[in-house]
Order: sequence, then structure tokens, then C-alpha cells
Amino acid sequence: ESFNDLNLSRQLIRACTALGYDVPTPIQAAVVPLALTGRDICGRAVTGSGKTAAFMLPLLERMLHRGARAAAATHVLVLVPTRELAVQVHQMTMRLAQFTSIRAALVVGGLSANTQAAELRTRPEIVVATPGRLIDHVRNTHSVGLEDLAALVLDEADRLLEMGFLEEIREIVRHCPTRRQTMLFSATLTSGVQELAEFSMKHPARLSA
Ligand code: AMP
Repeated sequence: ESFNDLNLSRQLIRACTALGYDVPTPIQAAVVPLALTGRDICGRAVTGSGKTAAFMLPLLERMLHRGARAAAATHVLVLVPTRELAVQVHQMTMRLAQFTSIRAALVVGGLSANTQAAELRTRPEIVVATPGRLIDHVRNTHSVGLEDLAALVLDEADRLLEMGFLEEIREIVRHCPTRRQTMLFSATLTSGVQELAEFSMKHPARLSA
């Protein structure tokens, strides 16, 4: 199987080629077709499995189809546990989106909140964030609009909980529209993660890779 078989647009296939990806990893082969249908997905996957492209490629594909509406508000929010992971996911997203006009912002602690707020006000389609800093913008700078959010990704959910972000995630989910796509990925499916899955997703497809 190749990326050509995954029903992705030319710009995205080109990006995969530029990144040196020949063959989809097992999690990509499983997640991409399902996520393209808009389903919620609860996936057991570790770093190194190719999970970032697994969730980002179908989200980018769906954004390409939304066309002109894409500029109006943040469409995809990816929550990750640490600043380092946020930097990695943001970089990967920009590489995958390099042949499209889709923009991605990085929202983490340690960078100027004012600079981030200014960038958020330009309404990048994708926001990659740690929950603490995102909540800060939701509560204080009012620079994030989640009311048109189409998709929420909870990446490394077990670590999000270990870092103590449960309440922040609950608050962020309350700001998101009920009608949205949610994907959760975790190396381990602890009872805490199951609980997180229950309040954030509707009848998710459960995948393991
Ligand atoms: P991730 O699990 O998303 O952190 O990805 C782990 C590493 O695998 C990253 O360096 C990716 O660039 C790389 N990668 C992701 N998908 C593929 C693929 N289909 N073929 C080769 N490398 C990949």
C-alpha cells in the first residue's frame, strides 16, 4: 500500500514524498481512511509509530475541502502534554501542510503570550498547544476562538493526565462545539484515559498499532 491509495490530495502526497515517506505506517493505514469519514478515534499508539501524520493528514485533507471558510476561525486544535512535543507536532504539521495555504500556530509556555495572541488573532487554521497556555489565552487574551472548531486531538493522553491537565482539558472541551471530530491517542489506556475518552468522544473507533 502507498500514500496514493489513501485518497489524499496531491499537495499532501507531495509533502509525504518530500518527507521521504514511501509507505504508510500501520497506524497511518488504519487511521487515515477512518478519520477521513469524520469519525472519532481512540488509538493506542506510541511515539515513533507515525501517529502525528496519521491524525494530521486526514485533518488537512478535510480542511482542504472546507475551502474559503477555512480562514474564518481555528479549525483544528491539537493538545499535547509538553512544550517539546508541541514543537515537534507543530514542525511536522508545517511540513505536511507546506504545499497548501493552511497555517499552524504553536502555543506553549515560555514564549511571549502577547506575540502568540497576535498570531492567534490572524486565525491560523491549526493550533498546536499545551493545555495550560491555551487556557491562558481562552481566559485572558481572548485571542482563541474555538466556536468553529471542527476537530480536537488529544495527543499522548496518558501523559496529559500525568501532567495534571484534566481540568484544563475539561474546560477546553466545554468551549468546543459539540459537533466536532475528536481523536485521542495514548500509549496506555488507563482508566483515566478511558474517562477522558468518554467525555470527549462519541462512539469512537478503537484502534491499536
Ligand atoms: P511520530 O510517531 O509521529 O512521532 O513519528 C515518528 C517518526 O517517523 C517521525 O520522524 C516521522 O517523520 C517518521 N514517519 C512518520 N510516518 C512515516 C512514514 N510513513 N514513513 C517513514 N517515516 C515516517
